[in-house]
Amino acid sequence: MADKLTTQKRLVAYFSMEIALENAMPSYSGGLGVLAGDTIRAAADLKLPMVAISLLYRKGFFTQILSEDGVQTEEPAEWRVEDFLKEEPARVSVPLENRRVELRCWRYDAVGARGHIVPIYFLDADLPSNEERDRNLTGSLYGGDSYYRLCQEVLLGIGGVRMLRALGYEDISRYHMNEGHAALLTLELLGEEAEKAGRESVIGEDIEKVRRKCVFTTHTPVPAGHDRFPMEFLTRAFPEQTGFFNLKDASSAELLKRVLQAESNFPDLHDAARRGASVNMTQLALGLSNFVNGVAKKHGEVSRRMFPEFLIEAITNGVHAATWAAPAFQQLFDRYIPSWREDNYSLRSALGLPVEEVWAAHLISKHELFETVRLKTGLKLDPEVFTIGFARRATSYKRADLILSDLDRLREIVKNAGKFQIVFAGKAHPNDGSGKEIIKKIFKAKKALKKNVQIVFLDNYNMELGGKITAGVDLWLNTPQFPLEASGTSGMKAALNGVPSLSILDGWWVEGHIEGVTGWSIGELHRGTDVSTDNAGEAESLYHKLGDVILPLYYNDRQKFLEVMLHAIAINGSFFNTQRMVQQYVTDAYLR
Ligand SMILES: *Cc1c(COP(=O)(O)O)cnc(C)c1O
Repeated sequence: MADKLTTQKRLVAYFSMEIALENAMPSYSGGLGVLAGDTIRAAADLKLPMVAISLLYRKGFFTQILSEDGVQTEEPAEWRVEDFLKEEPARVSVPLENRRVELRCWRYDAVGARGHIVPIYFLDADLPSNEERDRNLTGSLYGGDSYYRLCQEVLLGIGGVRMLRALGYEDISRYHMNEGHAALLTLELLGEEAEKAGRESVIGEDIEKVRRKCVFTTHTPVPAGHDRFPMEFLTRAFPEQTGFFNLKDASSAELLKRVLQAESNFPDLHDAARRGASVNMTQLALGLSNFVNGVAKKHGEVSRRMFPEFLIEAITNGVHAATWAAPAFQQLFDRYIPSWREDNYSLRSALGLPVEEVWAAHLISKHELFETVRLKTGLKLDPEVFTIGFARRATSYKRADLILSDLDRLREIVKNAGKFQIVFAGKAHPNDGSGKEIIKKIFKAKKALKKNVQIVFLDNYNMELGGKITAGVDLWLNTPQFPLEASGTSGMKAALNGVPSLSILDGWWVEGHIEGVTGWSIGELHRGTDVSTDNAGEAESLYHKLGDVILPLYYNDRQKFLEVMLHAIAINGSFFNTQRMVQQYVTDAYLR
């Protein structure tokens, strides 16, 4: 049966390796996926003609198991796909090595505030017609080795474009690559252009046509974070090299040279592979996009420094307001700012909200978090006590342990300025040894500080927990090593719920911070883009702000503290949302 949606013209196809749609669907690992989900929800609210493509992961990311000492082990997060998604009849196949991998897809509808639907299609290789190893390609997110990852990216990029065609989406104006994982879609589009012109090989004209349609958002401020594969992987995956990489004139050779970082003008792919060349997915996406952006103004600057030969702009990330406002705040906004769901900008009038009601909504959110803490750990936290939240992926640059640098200092702060407690959560990537060490360190500090500072670590950080923690604490702590936090979004969720940030001036906080008005900074604004290594100085600044500024405000001048809470909503909640962000993508990128 022909579906009205699929025959409709779509402006944008949004490709992402992970998309967070529902807590019970383990289709994401963290920030990138949450951003993708929030983008799609905002696009649906704005009635944007968008369609999205991702991969299905039957074993999800993973379930985090923590021992008494904070040792993390992982288990697959199996789920019943049919409970959430609807299978589509369309089938496509993708060449891989000397086989063809057949793909089907499963559909999820994101429904906007005014009923508009953005369909998301999850590609699935788990079909009986495929060999076992191919069926497993849509098994786990960021699992397996580097070649496994490349094969997944082949399915996402090349399989994704083919699936769009099979579903009837012939006429798509923009292909938006959310990070470099989807960059191979450009090769499929090049192949399509050549085929349309009746040619076997790709020429510069095709590149221009494809480039006009592609938009690329880069998220990673360190070179090591960019996907790079040995060329040998590509010649292994595509031994015939027909269509893909079959570039045959001067301007296409120029592109190939850059992507492969090869020396000769017409690099022979097999020869390049033998000589150890690698393919850089970011270079591929950069070379074939008409609009490229970083995810915060500072990150734009860092990206331009990394890739000086490209024009890179910045569109600062946001969060989906109606998803991340806690139930108590949703009710408060519905009552006083009824248009806030369709018009997030109207949250600026939060400055006029009755402070007693804001405080009451905050206490309800705090109570809900503490109830979750009790259910997960058996611990009862005192709601009168100032509570700090820190939840994000456990990895070294995020420095969850910065606040634990000097435990005696923390004891002193409690004595002089008042009690506080800390709620932590976060998964370490299975292969990230130093991330796992950080979790153990937090467990150790928890024991050492038992009599002075109550610390809880909640396992299995996910969307639901993220929502509870960002809304239910009194202060959101963020201590990344500058400039490695490309944007960060959890502080935006906190702001929407009136929770101010205490943060390093990195990512979005460079733009969202007004000292003492929307929150507080740790350290000074960094010039340039060099990585900060001043752990001691930044810890000192953190202790000073906490002990001398924030705790005294909370305990001795609650009215002033509440003013900061109102400004967090009015100044930051009204701006750092995906409604504003998607509107910027429309005007700056999609309609360019
Ligand atoms: C919001 C969110 C993130 C991203 O937060 P950052 O501030 O970018 O670290 C990651 N994981 C979950 C579950 C989230 O809800």
